[in-house]
Amino acid sequence: MRLMAVSKTRQASDLRAAYEAGQKAFGENYLQEALTKIDALADLSEIEWHFIGPIQSNKTRQLAEAFDWVHSVDRLKIARRLSEQRGGSGSPLNVCLQVNINEEDSKAGCLLGDLPALAREVMTLPNISLRGLMAIPDPDQPEADLRASFRKLADALQALQQNEYHGKTPDTALDTLSIGMSADLELAIEAGATWVRVGTAIFGARD
Ligand SMILES: *Cc1c(COP(=O)(O)O)cnc(C)c1O
Repeated sequence: MRLMAVSKTRQASDLRAAYEAGQKAFGENYLQEALTKIDALADLSEIEWHFIGPIQSNKTRQLAEAFDWVHSVDRLKIARRLSEQRGGSGSPLNVCLQVNINEEDSKAGCLLGDLPALAREVMTLPNISLRGLMAIPDPDQPEADLRASFRKLADALQALQQNEYHGKTPDTALDTLSIGMSADLELAIEAGATWVRVGTAIFGARD
């Protein structure tokens, strides 16, 4: 399990201090804000950038060029653009598919029922490595329901591994469950989280 420090609204100097204390992976939600920090911290050779926010299709080029991971891909159009714009020269872009696990109107992500078909298509894209699934469950549900939501996502990942992994290239690892934030990270870890995305528990409350 790895820890992503979610650094939206934080200053580059805060990220630099965390990096110097040993934190290498940072998650950002807003592209322009992220690009400013990526530029300011370009001297940190081992820093790893994760995009976890909503994606506008006219902003995919900068995502493809500046990030190591994108956790919030929820439609084929975006995945295709990211693959094209990543180009063939560098390493593939690590991608998670975001699932709207509680089917909330307000939330990004594909529905579980649409996931197998989407995953199958994304796996064929040349410059993307489909790593797994991401979700942001409804935080207001009772703990038992939250646990069940994480379990549903873990089951969906397992189903993809069983149905889709065979015959794919080894770098299509499907090894990632990106779940768990400050308020629910214990439950997420219990359900098998491989990335937890933690903001306030690291940096304090946001304004
Ligand atoms: C802000 C955010 C987090 C971190 O939330 P905290 O409650 O501050 O830990 C994690 N994931 C996503 C997608 C976020 O937008």
